[in-house]
Amino acid sequence: MNDNVFSLIKSHTSTDINNGKIKSVGHVYLVGAGPGDEELITVKAMRLLQEADAIVYDRLANPALLSYGKPHCDLIYVGKKKDQHSLPQEKICDLLAALAGCGKNVVRLKGGDSFIFGRGGEEIDYLSRQGIQCSVVPGITAASGCAAATQIPLTHRDYAHAVVFITGHRQNGKMTINWDLALQKDCTVVFYMGLSNLEEITRQLIERGCPTDKPFAVVSQGTSSEQQVVLGTISDIAQRLMHRPLLSPALLMMGDVIHANGYALGLANQTAAEYRGVNQ
Ligand code: SAH
Repeated sequence: MNDNVFSLIKSHTSTDINNGKIKSVGHVYLVGAGPGDEELITVKAMRLLQEADAIVYDRLANPALLSYGKPHCDLIYVGKKKDQHSLPQEKICDLLAALAGCGKNVVRLKGGDSFIFGRGGEEIDYLSRQGIQCSVVPGITAASGCAAATQIPLTHRDYAHAVVFITGHRQNGKMTINWDLALQKDCTVVFYMGLSNLEEITRQLIERGCPTDKPFAVVSQGTSSEQQVVLGTISDIAQRLMHRPLLSPALLMMGDVIHANGYALGLANQTAAEYRGVNQ
């Protein structure tokens, strides 16, 4: 985080706050950057990036997108690492508010879609309460991106009539998964942030009655040139990953749709180098 930006914010927040609200002349756009491949961004998002006075971006937003900013655009990294927030959420909200209070048009660029496990709801709420004008530009969420890149359809007339997105990460050390939701029949289940809890997630699902041959896929760095895919069943996927550890970000996908075609199997059998060839 750039110290100059912080002092800029301090000076402006102290002068522009009026009755607890920042006098907003700038505008904040919550923009979804898509899942990794820089081309998977909307035309609208691209235009806003080109026009922005400041881009406040996360770890999962493809950094190549920053090159579309104007020459003097402020580029501010506020990315979080697992269990380690480089900037607390309240500070990110303050930063956005202060930049808008300085009259800047701000793009808050997040991986995937801001409203899917992206804390976009918190930011928009905070900014609106401060009287700051905001707009939201949707992005392609990791589930859609990974589904497309592996050709695993999220829904399918023969295999899945519903799809659920669940967070697989722990909150205060506890799993918060709604297991009944994850065990629904004819459903594709996608776990975000579940890689480090894969063993426990799969064990608990089996203990709660999930068929032991339920197809399971893990997609790492989906849609990027580094994408890797491991396929298996709920019973053996954790072990498969022990033999072939994958990097984050990674998405866990569970459901019969994984067998809907053979493409994902082909990817899983390829090395990353071969996959790059396919992706070009
Ligand atoms: N707002 C984002 C999700 C943020 S939560 C979105 O809509 O996609 C972060 C989690 O998203 C990661 O832990 C991982 O589970 C998933 N994720 C994000 N990008 C991914 C990618 N390129 N490949 C696989 N999983 C990804």
